[in-house]
Amino acid sequence: MSLQSTSSTSTIYRAPWVVPISSAILRDGAVVVDDKRILAVGLYSDIAGRFQAVPVKPCSGVLLPALVNAHIHLELSVYGIVHPPSKHSTMCDWIKELLKTRETSKASIDEIVDAAQKTAQDQYESGVGLMLDIGNIDLGKFNFCPVEIHSLREMLGPSESATKAAIETIVKIPLEQSVTGHAPYSTSPKLLQYIKNRCRNNDQLFSLHLAENVDEGLLLEKGEGCFAKFLKERGGSDSPFPIPGIDSSAVVGYLQQLDIMDSKTLCVHCVHLNDEEIKILADTNVHVCLCPGSNKFLSVGRVRLQALIDQDILPAIGTDSIASNPELDMWQEMALLRKEHPDVAADRILSMATIAGAISMGRHTTYGSLEEGKTARFIHIEGAEYANAANAEQLLECLTTAGRPDSVSRL
Ligand SMILES: [Zn+2]
Repeated sequence: MSLQSTSSTSTIYRAPWVVPISSAILRDGAVVVDDKRILAVGLYSDIAGRFQAVPVKPCSGVLLPALVNAHIHLELSVYGIVHPPSKHSTMCDWIKELLKTRETSKASIDEIVDAAQKTAQDQYESGVGLMLDIGNIDLGKFNFCPVEIHSLREMLGPSESATKAAIETIVKIPLEQSVTGHAPYSTSPKLLQYIKNRCRNNDQLFSLHLAENVDEGLLLEKGEGCFAKFLKERGGSDSPFPIPGIDSSAVVGYLQQLDIMDSKTLCVHCVHLNDEEIKILADTNVHVCLCPGSNKFLSVGRVRLQALIDQDILPAIGTDSIASNPELDMWQEMALLRKEHPDVAADRILSMATIAGAISMGRHTTYGSLEEGKTARFIHIEGAEYANAANAEQLLECLTTAGRPDSVSRL
């Protein structure tokens, strides 16, 4: 056994449980950190022998990587929860409520930013370390925000005229600001291609809402459903929908034909997909993010998680916004997924909330797991349920079903 070289700033964090995600859970484990880098992860008995001169900081709970929230809309925080108008409402009815709330709101930009910042702070306090934030307006930089936020400016343009206006706006946005499309039902093929090409040229992530609702397919394939009515009401007489020639590969096949689907595209929701569409997602290495809390709130259906996993797709998880998810909590998202998909193992669900999110954002060299060489972005959680776990299986069950821990801290 060789002794490792360290500096005076090195620390060994020892805990009853260490959950590295990328390797087996450690009972009485330890993480060695130096200058915010992880030097080693292992059983305390091994680490103590290898790093004899390094001070030990005992922790009473569980060490695990910070969570990654791969889909949120911080700018909607100021409006609070937007309820569907009735039990029988369509998603379009809810979108109308949301638009009405925004249009009639007197919230100033300072109030919007303030509410967004409070939400970001709450996400941090829950254990989130990295977020993908989608917004229609430029919130600028927060005064203080402990969470790393990657922001995408989202554009819509369901008609020829709206597409032209959107492109005129995009050309004025600095190239370092990432731009993305909203959804296939709200963004014309021309605009989706324009934005994806911009992302490709600047090596940026492209993310869009996909298959959140059955009406998306109805609009694109037949020009029917609630979105068709909605677009007509809002004056979309030069709409490109329905799209001619869509076959059994449906909306995903259409996006593939537009050359939208690749490893730097993140598709969010993915509730209504057929087998062929899931196969295309897998073959094109597209990333997927699920928002189970939002899907439940809007009653849009339940994602086919096992079918995605069967195609080697491990989706990320996002909370979506407070407008469609009163909980806005990654721990609750995990608990809901466990409840809705009891056959999916707990360790997979935890991987979705950590490493899958990091991979989907191209940030897995820093986030998502505890590994030698990575930046030390880990959290320390405490609660009686973790202390009482008799083995790794019970601990995983607690982590993915018990909701937000009593105490979440950073070391
Ligand atoms: Zn969303």
